[in-house]
Amino acid sequence: MDQSTMKVAYLGLGAMGRPMAANLARAFPTKVWNRTSAVADDHAAQHGTSAVTDLADLADVQVVCSCLPTDVEVAQIVGQLGPELARGTVWLDHTSGDPVGSQRIAESLAEHGVTYLDAPVSGGTAGAEAGTLTVMIGGSQEAIDEVRPVLDAVAANVVRVGDVGAGMAVKAINQALLATSLQAAAEGLTVLARYGVSASTALDVINGATGRSFVTENLMSRATSREFPLTFALGLLNKDVRLAGQLIAELGVAAPVLELARQLTAEVTEIVGEQADHVEAVRLAEQRAGVELQ
Ligand code: NDP
Repeated sequence: MDQSTMKVAYLGLGAMGRPMAANLARAFPTKVWNRTSAVADDHAAQHGTSAVTDLADLADVQVVCSCLPTDVEVAQIVGQLGPELARGTVWLDHTSGDPVGSQRIAESLAEHGVTYLDAPVSGGTAGAEAGTLTVMIGGSQEAIDEVRPVLDAVAANVVRVGDVGAGMAVKAINQALLATSLQAAAEGLTVLARYGVSASTALDVINGATGRSFVTENLMSRATSREFPLTFALGLLNKDVRLAGQLIAELGVAAPVLELARQLTAEVTEIVGEQADHVEAVRLAEQRAGVELQ
C-alpha cells in the first residue's frame, strides 16, 4: 500500500465517528458514509470530507474505518461493501463488538483479499476530538504497520493485543471495569450522602486519596452537577458488559464482581433507558439509597 496516496473511508458518523473522521480528513482524502445520509452531508460541509450515499462509491479507498454500534451492523455493511473493495484494502473496525463476530467478519473479508483488524477505541468523545484515543488491535502486525498513519491521525496510544478478536475482548473487559467503577463509586457516594457528607465534598477527598478512579475523577462531577450530557449511551455500555459476560461464560472463568456489574448495568438500563448517558447509571444506587448525589 502506498501511504503517500492513501484514501480513506469512514462509516458511521456517531458520537465517536464524527470527530474521528474529522481528524482523518486533515491528513487524507476522506469519504464518509452514514446510515442517515444528512449527517454525512453535514460532515462534508463542516470538515471537508466527501459524503457518499452508495457504498459502492467507496471502492477506490485503501483503508475503510467503521464505528457502528456492534459487530452485527458492521457485518451487514461488510456483506454489501466487501465484494466491491480492491484486494489489499485494510478494514479498520473501531466498533466495540463481539470477538467471535469480528473473527467471522475477518473471514468473510479475507475471501475478497481484504484484511480486517478489530481496533476498538477508548478515550471517549473528548479523546476522539483531540485525536488522543487508545486503540487496542487484534490482527496482523503487517496490516497495522500499513495503516499506521491512519491510526496516528486519531490515536495517541496503539497497542496490538493479539490476533483478530483480541481487541474486542480487551475492550469488553475494559468496559466491564468501567461499569464496575461506576456502580462502586455511586454506591460509596450514596452511603456517604445518607450519612450526611455531600458527594461533592466526598469527591474532594477521594480524588486525592486511594479510592479515586477514572470515574471519580472524570465522570462523577456530572452526577453532582445533575447534568448528564450524552457522550456515551448507557445502551452501548450495557451492550459492552453483555459481551464481556459472554466472553467470561465462554471461557468458564469465575468473575463474580464483573457479573454483578453486568446485572446492575442491565437493571439501570431498564430504568433510565438506552439513550441516557452512561453516567446516569448512578441512578440505581441513588434510588436504592433514596438520595441524589450533589
Ligand atoms: P452513536 O450511537 O453516537 O452512533 C452510532 C452510529 O452507528 C451512527 O452513525 C448510526 O447512524 C450508526 N448506525 C446505527 N445503527 C446502524 C445500522 N443498523 N446500520 C448502519 N449504521 C448504523 O454511537 P457512538 O459513536 O457513541 O459509538 C459507536 C461505537 O463506538 C460503539 O460500538 C460504542 O460502544 C463505541 N465507543 C463509544 C464511545 C463513546 O464515548 N461514545 C467510546 C468508545 C467506544 P445514524 O446516524 O443513522 O443513527
